[in-house]
Amino acid sequence: MKSEKINRISPSVTIEITTIAKELKRQGKDVVLLAAGEPDFPSPDHVKTGAIKAIENNFTTYTETAGIPELKEGICKKFLRDNGLNYKSEEIMVNCGSKHAIYLALQCLLSPGDKVILSLPCWNSYIEQVKLAEGEPLLINSREDMSLDIDKLNKSVTEKVKVLLLNSPCNPTGHVFTEKELEAIGEIALTHKDLFIISDEVYEYFVYEGKHISLTGVFPELKNRTVIVNSVSKSYSMPGWRIGYAAGPKELISSMTALQDHITSNPSSISQIAALKAIVGDQSCVKHMFHEFSKRRDFVIDRLNKLPLIKCSPPKGAFYAFIDISKTCMDSKKFTKRLLEEELVALIPGIAFGYDNFVRLSFASAYEELKKGMERIERFILKINNAREE
Ligand code: GLU
Repeated sequence: MKSEKINRISPSVTIEITTIAKELKRQGKDVVLLAAGEPDFPSPDHVKTGAIKAIENNFTTYTETAGIPELKEGICKKFLRDNGLNYKSEEIMVNCGSKHAIYLALQCLLSPGDKVILSLPCWNSYIEQVKLAEGEPLLINSREDMSLDIDKLNKSVTEKVKVLLLNSPCNPTGHVFTEKELEAIGEIALTHKDLFIISDEVYEYFVYEGKHISLTGVFPELKNRTVIVNSVSKSYSMPGWRIGYAAGPKELISSMTALQDHITSNPSSISQIAALKAIVGDQSCVKHMFHEFSKRRDFVIDRLNKLPLIKCSPPKGAFYAFIDISKTCMDSKKFTKRLLEEELVALIPGIAFGYDNFVRLSFASAYEELKKGMERIERFILKINNAREE
């Protein structure tokens, strides 16, 4: 019954596990959810008030497919304010989440068989989206410190490669590109004139070590073949509103808009007003979340590294602890399955991101949940360690 294309893709593990854990919670089980990257904070008050007013003012019609002009202008201001980048409204479009933006970009850029370079470990949806666009993922492993392996990248770029998909800060490793790395990436991109770059920057505000820099900030000459993808989901704790956006060359944005015309039309009108309030409004909510995530990161990393059998490097950005479980002698699915069954803690198996000897813990969850989760993880690891020693 199903098409060959759909048979080739797998469901999203991050979403699947979160759905199972939420269902267990609904059934009354005391599950600790450290699975999906979902900040526990409510969306900011000024965002909610803006959306309520939009409903009361009957702003419930279709909007322009690529987003209302005010929001696109607000996004241009954001790029100048936060990234020092100059964009015009016609180079911006608003989507139903950044996932949607990446999907449209890949569909518009790839012809069957075109290769897309991805550095593993990487977010699970990239690979499936490349396959949906009939492209071929070309996977290169990161260096041991989770930085991009520049030599491998250099060797991998051939004429068959159409897109380099970058993600900094990285989900799941938290790696943040250094200026030196960006310079090396930029040099490679400059010598391969047909290479297009998709840069996923959704975790840009959550950097604990180093600084977030956009590739096009260092190499303005790459702006005409780079699309930056971002969203309000993580930055302003608004994942359910489903608003992402893309900034890129006018021609590509027009094609992505034409595709969006036929798939979803405009993203929710109410959510667009909410996103506008978030992006141009008071930014103290972002600082507050950053401060909290920073404390949670220190707490989790400290507790994890006191345990036998596992180790975890402090992530430089985003809000995930990517934990090395090699010494437990379990693969990542077995580890997460047992942890959920025996201790009711939901984590994501690293195999979802291409690394089977790791698991991912989201510390975007509330501090109390993290505390409870860490106590249970400790009990679980000590149990495994004791069984091994017996
Ligand atoms: N991006 C988040 C994560 O990696 C949300 C779930 C998803 O869309 O994959 O957990």
